[in-house]
Amino acid sequence: MIDLQQFCAVGDLRIYLNSTWHYKGWHIASDGWMLVATHNELFSSPDTDGIPESTATVVDGILQFDPGARQGVPLSNIVFPQGAPCARCGTRGKVWTSFCPDLEEDWEICKNCDGEGYLYHAAPQGAGDKECTCKLCLGAGFGNCNDLMEITGYKFSAALVHRLKVLPELRFFVNDDGNANFVFADGVGALAGRRQ
Ligand SMILES: [Zn+2]
Ligand SMILES: [Zn+2]
Repeated sequence: MIDLQQFCAVGDLRIYLNSTWHYKGWHIASDGWMLVATHNELFSSPDTDGIPESTATVVDGILQFDPGARQGVPLSNIVFPQGAPCARCGTRGKVWTSFCPDLEEDWEICKNCDGEGYLYHAAPQGAGDKECTCKLCLGAGFGNCNDLMEITGYKFSAALVHRLKVLPELRFFVNDDGNANFVFADGVGALAGRRQ
């Protein structure tokens, strides 16, 4: 079983992105850039509330992806750029977070957390600390979320592509619009391309 939580956003204002959700028989995680969906017969519960209609339309398209005769790129054929270890998490890909105590008085100009509301550290410091995916490298442990890599002529976040390594038998399909779909043993997903 793949832990889908690792593909969720952390502290996103779009609340539904911060945890996994159920939709039309799928179990889904997304951070807004990437979406990963696995088949889930275990859940017959009603679909999650709170997904905007425009999002549902996009998700429907991703779930219906059919590679047809295309072979796609196996992940083993993708060569990753050699990035420096992540400045925030070392190479771990995970960090501990605690709420910033200064934020309430000093929102947006808070020097401690840049207004984000969370502080990041290597080890737990208090009872309320949560371990989560490092947002700087997006869990890859190297580089940062702005490092791009090219796959069949289009650019993607290297850190996000790197995270796909946990999905078995993954094949990556780059579309003419510069975005990508992928299929893996238990499901499907999509990754938004990056233009710069
Ligand atoms: Zn702060
Ligand atoms: Zn990191």
